[in-house]
Amino acid sequence: ANAVEVHNVSHVYVNEHGAKLALGQIQLNVEAGEFVALVGPSGCGKTTLLSIIAGLIEPSEGTVRLFGQPVAGPTPRVGYMLQQDYLFPWRTIRDNILIGLEVMGQLTPIKREYALQLLDEMGLSAHAGSYPSELSGGMRQRVALVRTLATEPDILFLDEPFSALDFQTKLQLENLIYETLRKHRKTALLVTHDIAEAIAMSNRVIILAPNPGTVYQEVDIPASLA
Ligand code: ADP
Ligand code: ADP
Repeated sequence: ANAVEVHNVSHVYVNEHGAKLALGQIQLNVEAGEFVALVGPSGCGKTTLLSIIAGLIEPSEGTVRLFGQPVAGPTPRVGYMLQQDYLFPWRTIRDNILIGLEVMGQLTPIKREYALQLLDEMGLSAHAGSYPSELSGGMRQRVALVRTLATEPDILFLDEPFSALDFQTKLQLENLIYETLRKHRKTALLVTHDIAEAIAMSNRVIILAPNPGTVYQEVDIPASLA
């Protein structure tokens, strides 16, 4: 089954400076369980495409389906990991990872236990009572991933999740996050301008051409390279 089906999607931003074609005629499919990386230069429309698939922006043209359903707005089936961690500085790590469930009115004992188990898998149990400012950037990104996985999304959207981290931390996290998402049988769509990261974290790389973004080429990544 297809997790994502993007059919003929184009998008034009209109503001006081005029109209700007950000994406042109995008076709792409992501199968359930696949890890797909979208690469392309800054400004080619990667974030716009993710936002459209997530239901945050309505495309000017074309259709999007998520798990067979037409996208008509944001859905809890999508989880996010972004460049910034957006942790609440005045809450402990434990409270930060439970906040998503709390907001959704789903903070049951079982879900709480699951969230704490994820924190343990990420090697952060000892920091449950710490505040975000006491953690390194890489640790905070791991917390951000736990927070989103705790709500049990079916697909993860990772938008430049490592671009604020140093090189060593980034390499460690790529591996840990890839393995964790695989273990929990998630589908993932990674946006990055870093081709090495795209290869390390996906089984298929979709290259977008700049101005306006169109699908330039798709490359399958053999497991031996990833
Ligand atoms: P990236 O996705 O590459 O990290 P951004 O999405 O923050 O970068 O911005 C990419 C470009 O889009 C920027 O050059 C900025 O000028 C433009 N942009 C982003 N948001 C707006 C907006 N609300 N109005 C006009 N231009 C915007
Ligand atoms: P990427 O994520 O690949 O860097 P974006 O999707 O952020 O690209 O942006 C694609 C293009 O659309 C860019 O040229 C950017 O300047 C423009 N853009 C992005 N957001 C807005 C916006 N809100 N209003 C106007 N233009 C925008």
